[in-house]
Amino acid sequence: MNYNIALLKGDGIGPEIVDSAVKVLEVVGKKFGHVFNFTPYLIGGSAIDATGEPLPKETVEGCLASDSVLLGAVGGPKWDTLPGNMRPEKALLGIRSAMGLFTNLRPAKLYPALKGDCPLREDIVANGFDIMIVRELTGGIYFGERGFREGKYGEEAYDTECYSRMEIERICKVAFETAMKRNKKLVSIDKANVLDSSRLWRNVVHKMAKSYPEVEVSDMLVDNAAMQLVRNPAQFDVIVTTNMFGDILSDEASQITGSIGMLPSASLGNNTRGLYEPIHGSAPDIAGWNVANPIATILSAAMMLLYSFNLTKESEAIVNAVNKVLEAGYRTADLAHGAPSLSTTEITDKIIENL
Ligand code: NAD
Repeated sequence: MNYNIALLKGDGIGPEIVDSAVKVLEVVGKKFGHVFNFTPYLIGGSAIDATGEPLPKETVEGCLASDSVLLGAVGGPKWDTLPGNMRPEKALLGIRSAMGLFTNLRPAKLYPALKGDCPLREDIVANGFDIMIVRELTGGIYFGERGFREGKYGEEAYDTECYSRMEIERICKVAFETAMKRNKKLVSIDKANVLDSSRLWRNVVHKMAKSYPEVEVSDMLVDNAAMQLVRNPAQFDVIVTTNMFGDILSDEASQITGSIGMLPSASLGNNTRGLYEPIHGSAPDIAGWNVANPIATILSAAMMLLYSFNLTKESEAIVNAVNKVLEAGYRTADLAHGAPSLSTTEITDKIIENL
């Protein structure tokens, strides 16, 4: 098959890590008989420098015309003093909204070879953990009615958490289907003891559960979930939650893996076209040195193969190759703790050797 992939390399280490993922995809394509066509588009600071805006029209059009999008990272000190709507990071919200991406999938997995990097006690993570967080991305309090006004005690500000049944149903459908592809365990996280929006959320989850009898579903209050993630992360398989709770919990979950350079993400909408990116930023402190860890971006490409192109074997081949490289003890500087390490291109080549 032929697949058209839009590349948004962005700033800082973005070009280095996207180039690594492209190299891996090209080899996967050759091995499995697919052609991946890559078209680069400008985004973030590099787009500001070239065109005066962080998200040029051609970039949006190119992404919408592609089969899927791979993004590096945007931002850096050079553009930090620009006004909010001209900042590189503004392009991220812009492209997510232009592509209608209402789902954010963030896996948080502790690789056995990287147990030593986990900040949790050894006995807590003895068996590792592998969690998929399904976060609603375009609704809730970040998009609800907001404002400043005069209140009982003078000036006040408010933000509103509001979810429609439709918005909850469509994110829960993704979560149930994700659970079906994994260990069939879904925890829905809300604050139904206080919030009406959470009561509607819970009602929808319970109703939809009837259509997925194989999935074991439970509810958890968000405060308990924050605690359970550090008490016993292995109890989770798939988590589904709102925009704000997902924002906070997915950062917590990523931190307990101990390795920011390892974690991929996917943002999806109503069709198979998605936006795939590492969870870390543009790491300007190490940009241009060929030392960045490209694994989060390479694993983002693996997620693209699975979720956008339904290429399960091909996606697994990448994940297995990464595992083998880590098991063999190869590390980039961020994971080497001062021991000898491989460069971005060297670890990419090791992954390719193991495909
Ligand atoms: P960051 O994630 O870029 O870096 C935090 C630390 O982690 C740095 O020490 C960096 O060197 C290290 N690091 C990150 N990714 C790494 C990798 N792949 N390999 C090795 N080390 C890695 O976060 P920050 O420093 O807070 O932000 C830097 C810039 O990135 C800012 O302009 C910020 O706005 C932007 N940012 C962009 C995104 C995005 O594009 N999605 C996300 C977060 C931050």
